[in-house]
Amino acid sequence: MQPLPSRIETLTVVGGGVIGLTCALAAADAGFSVRVLDAGIGQRAAWVAAGMLGSLGEGHPGEEQLLEMSASSARRWPDLVARLGDPTVMAAADSLFVAATAADAERLRTLADFVWARQPRAHDDLAPVTPADLRRLEPALTSRVHGGFRAVGEGAVDNRALLGRLRDAVVAAGGEIHDRHVEDLADLDGDQVLVAAGLGTRNLLPDIAVHAVKGEVLRLRATRWSVPPPTHVVRARMHGRSVYLVPRADGIVVGATQYEPFDEASREPEVGGVADLLTDATDLMPGLRTYELVEVGAGLRPVSPDGLPVIARVDERVLVATGHGRNGILLAPYTADRVMALLDTVSGDVTSAAGKKNSC
Ligand SMILES: Cc1cc2nc3c(=O)[nH]c(=O)nc-3n(C[C@H](O)[C@H](O)[C@H](O)COP(=O)(O)OP(=O)(O)OC[C@H]3O[C@@H](n4cnc5c(N)ncnc54)[C@H](O)[C@@H]3O)c2cc1C
Repeated sequence: MQPLPSRIETLTVVGGGVIGLTCALAAADAGFSVRVLDAGIGQRAAWVAAGMLGSLGEGHPGEEQLLEMSASSARRWPDLVARLGDPTVMAAADSLFVAATAADAERLRTLADFVWARQPRAHDDLAPVTPADLRRLEPALTSRVHGGFRAVGEGAVDNRALLGRLRDAVVAAGGEIHDRHVEDLADLDGDQVLVAAGLGTRNLLPDIAVHAVKGEVLRLRATRWSVPPPTHVVRARMHGRSVYLVPRADGIVVGATQYEPFDEASREPEVGGVADLLTDATDLMPGLRTYELVEVGAGLRPVSPDGLPVIARVDERVLVATGHGRNGILLAPYTADRVMALLDTVSGDVTSAAGKKNSC
């Protein structure tokens, strides 16, 4: 690696999702002249997402590197929220992991042991809670719980508010955002080009392996007869399926299904997935039956073969940041820091993107 020549001042970012905008903001703050080209909301996973910043709760054996990356990114979130200047972007500060059965309590204990072993500092943040604790913390939870864990600091953002604040901040920092579908990177000017187009990346850089994993989420709104939304992110397994409730100011986002493999032509929510989410959410928190179902959404997560994001330099001009899977919002500040480090260097190794030089 050698330092970039000082003439490099402009960065064109292809993709105005959470990854593209967070990187664009970091580059604008570092003095780059930044231009974001975005094909629009219709293809944006970050619009559909629930906004969980789930680091400890995303720790599964076999995903050690992802856990480290996630924890590292979670630690960067307070600075990003401060940079955006709007604390209301945070929708929750902490998470509860609820065991609905005795077997589930065992499963959660095993996962916690894994996280504690890999992240010693998580001992303070991830603590067991009794059924009585759970009901005290979230009185609307079903009474049939077998305890669980509280993850302090593992919160959530309002992903739609976040996208708006990021756009505002990029423009306020002197960046430009244009509606444009990029067909060919050769058409672009700019000293450096960052491809952060989520799934669209595979059309621009066919060597980058990224595939789609479909998911559905529901948006529920409280009525004046409803129990208030929870104050924590609430995560559980109901009927053998994962479900989570993520608070919003006026309701809850319920997520999420996961279809892999699936027919990519099928972009709409499926009846069975929506029925499962409603059943699991109302069994976990029976008071949700009085909420209004205001939106049923489906989106495609951009996933790499090994589940880790691809953050790499492709050649002396082009960089890529994609494949963030189920954690793209959480991983945005980590990704921006990695991209800024890559912008500082030029690599002659044009195969590096496939080799994915990620580190925490
Ligand atoms: C159901 C569901 C729930 C999720 N929940 C969470 C969660 O709770 N927490 C979390 O951290 N993550 C979650 N995710 C994952 C997260 O949404 C993604 O990882 C993240 O949005 C990826 O960000 P991105 O910017 O790479 O891609 P996107 O958000 O998809 O944005 C890509 C952008 O690039 C643009 N684009 C594409 N092609 C082109 C082109 N050729 N020219 C110009 N622009 C182009 C698109 O229009 C789009 O705006 C969820 C995803 C889904 C589907």
